[in-house]
Amino acid sequence: MDINEFKEFGHAAIDFIVEYLETIRDRPVLSSVEPEYLHDLLPSEMPEQPEKWQDIMEDLKNQILPGLTHWQSPHFHAFYPSQSSFPSIVGELLTAGIGVVGFSWICSPAATELEVIVMDWLGKFLNLPSHFLPSGQGNGGGIIQGSASESILVAVLAAREEKVREMKIKRPELTEGEIRSKLVGYGSIHSNSAIEKSGLLAATKMRLLDADETSIMRGETVEKAIQADLAEDLIPYICVTTIGTTGTCAFDNMEEIGPVCKKYSVWMHIDAAYAGAVFCLPEYAHIMKGIEYGDSINFNLHKWMLVNFDCAAMWIKDAGKLTQSFNVERIYLDHKYQGASKAPDYRHWQLALGRRFRSLRVWITFRTYGQQKIREWLRKHISLASLFLEYLATDDRFEATGQSLALAFFRLKGDDTLTRKLLDRINDRKNIYMIPAFYQNKVIIRFVICGLDPVEKDIEYAWNEIKTVADELLAENEAAEKLQIKLSENAENEIETVKDKVNFVTENISQSFSICEQEKTVH
Ligand SMILES: *Cc1c(COP(=O)(O)O)cnc(C)c1O
Repeated sequence: MDINEFKEFGHAAIDFIVEYLETIRDRPVLSSVEPEYLHDLLPSEMPEQPEKWQDIMEDLKNQILPGLTHWQSPHFHAFYPSQSSFPSIVGELLTAGIGVVGFSWICSPAATELEVIVMDWLGKFLNLPSHFLPSGQGNGGGIIQGSASESILVAVLAAREEKVREMKIKRPELTEGEIRSKLVGYGSIHSNSAIEKSGLLAATKMRLLDADETSIMRGETVEKAIQADLAEDLIPYICVTTIGTTGTCAFDNMEEIGPVCKKYSVWMHIDAAYAGAVFCLPEYAHIMKGIEYGDSINFNLHKWMLVNFDCAAMWIKDAGKLTQSFNVERIYLDHKYQGASKAPDYRHWQLALGRRFRSLRVWITFRTYGQQKIREWLRKHISLASLFLEYLATDDRFEATGQSLALAFFRLKGDDTLTRKLLDRINDRKNIYMIPAFYQNKVIIRFVICGLDPVEKDIEYAWNEIKTVADELLAENEAAEKLQIKLSENAENEIETVKDKVNFVTENISQSFSICEQEKTVH
């Protein structure tokens, strides 16, 4: 492809994106294809000869598009959002166009420095304690990872290495292997699967602790678990608190857990993958209580702050601990500016060596919107979730079980099978998409505000869809119940008839019997 063709293809691609996003509302949010559909459509070998971009675009429309779940559709209400925005999409294009890899400062000074700056902007915007900020007094710093899972794993590994170093001095009688085998981490039973996985990858125990009846992990629970493990001569090293659990967006109690972590010298990581966005809203300051105890924290810009996937912010209180844990030197990686305070070599802060220029998208997006617009946008999503619950409140067949930020959750009154059936049928129709969770031991349906540009009429649409399916399901249920009653009534009638028959027969027998008796006496 030459540069002129690139220009044409590029313009056609933007036209395609515009058309796709403009019509996204009208497409079923879930795809109708069956597993392996694409294997039947595509050749089993890559093409031998060059193909035209026009043909490739045609196949994108005809073969790929039908197999998509439309995450940017406002009818997508599952998981958490992975919202994009126009400036971010352009940023993605520019990033690819510039095509740099910034694993150390020298590899692209602007890539590293822009990341330091936007992570400082974002940390301030989110009102994080200054100990996390590159511009703060201490040794804090921010990095953009690919995902929350990577951020959590990096925190877990850094905490593990820190504890191993500490224990080598405190308990010289133990071998390093013994120390490592005794390490134990904690998270809530409602924490994301990434926490359990980080324990597996770090090759340490990771206990998932009980939460209270509102899905919140409490300080007392953490302390009891730590004490029990210490009594077994195990070594607690990290506790991951979740601010915004994936199921119901519950907030673990950091004000209680923080001091416990401090007392037992356990690293506290904060997973605020979704809910971290509202740290910029003063009316949500209460959910940040205890955040000052955090040693590290993660928040996904690619969930709820207008930057397309992948873009996961992470801050650490003492960035030196990352370098200490993950520093591997090679002559070909050396450069003369190593160790400059505002020019970190980010390769020490992450799993991979190479890294994307993710800060470019963040910079473009933040400048295009500004703080005020981002705040307005978040508040709008929260009010749309409230609007959904207003619709729900008009129908007493439903039970609104709660709302946390732009996630509302609800169920049909009655037993769990009814709610499950409702959800299955709704998703089968593919007009809106939601997923279930558990709350207070009951099945609930999560309704999350997602998509590129959700508005009031999308909420009305979703409510009508839910109501239509509920009408149908409950009508069927009622009919089935009536049938059941009728069947049992019929059965009762039949029993009565049988009883009558039996009575008739017994009477006849006894009559014949007395006749016989009489005849006996006559003879
Ligand atoms: C979404 C989510 C994650 C996982 O995020 P990835 O970026 O996909 O790894 C982790 N924790 C919480 C609380 C989440 O909501």
